[in-house]
Amino acid sequence: MDMEATETILRVPTALSPSKISSFTNCALAFKYAYVDRLPQESTIEQVRGTLTHAALERFYRDLAPLGRTEEALLEHCLPEAMTEVLAGDEAQSLGLDAAQIEELRVEVAALARHALDLEDPSAVEVVDTEMKIETEVEGVPLRGIIDRLDRRSDGALIVVDYKTGKAPSERYEHGHLAGVTLYAAMCRAVTGELPAEVRLMHLREPMVLVAQVTERMVHGQVRRAAAVWKAIERACERDSFAPKVGPLCNWCSFSDRCPAVKGPAARH
Ligand code: SF4
Repeated sequence: MDMEATETILRVPTALSPSKISSFTNCALAFKYAYVDRLPQESTIEQVRGTLTHAALERFYRDLAPLGRTEEALLEHCLPEAMTEVLAGDEAQSLGLDAAQIEELRVEVAALARHALDLEDPSAVEVVDTEMKIETEVEGVPLRGIIDRLDRRSDGALIVVDYKTGKAPSERYEHGHLAGVTLYAAMCRAVTGELPAEVRLMHLREPMVLVAQVTERMVHGQVRRAAAVWKAIERACERDSFAPKVGPLCNWCSFSDRCPAVKGPAARH
């Protein structure tokens, strides 16, 4: 029997997203567990908090006319609706939250969503789309993702808006977050024919906004980076070679118990 013919070639994921690019560059082995082996990952309270905040803000900007976007509408209509929907889903149900934990979550999400109103005047926002699903190919790389919000600026230009509910990154990691949103701008052009002029990261915890003007050079750089990561993933799948990268992110890794590079929670950094 030809032994080579029996070798298993790992299945390459069908598309890349900014979060998959970060996952692969942060630790190739964790990427393999999540996106090639597709091992189940437990939900976390942070994920549910983020999902709830996005869902409340989606309703706020999608359903309400500009002058109806008040704090009262956000907290008394959009947030309760989002709570009803998200808490019934698998992500939240798997956590088995009790009434006190749900109330704590509601208070935290209300504060996060409320901060969006400190960062911008919602009645002045012209929304083009919310939670916009994009699936496209840019320079041969299949890309997929969801843009939290796409706005139209008063001069007619598009703005890609991304909400962040975790801690704002240090300067060292800030570039990586903006890079991901810049790739969304490239994906947006591929489907609409229009390159957004600006990307905005709204950090709702602090609260603070990071704004960058999109240039062709930035877009070209991010598309090239995505192409290089895509090639590296294809190569890693062909060779079944995904190197672990031990570091601070192991503390939040869902796979540390099976990772040969660390020996479970006690050995984490
Ligand atoms: S525990 Fe650390 S090294 Fe191991 S897979 Fe997770 S992130 Fe990578």
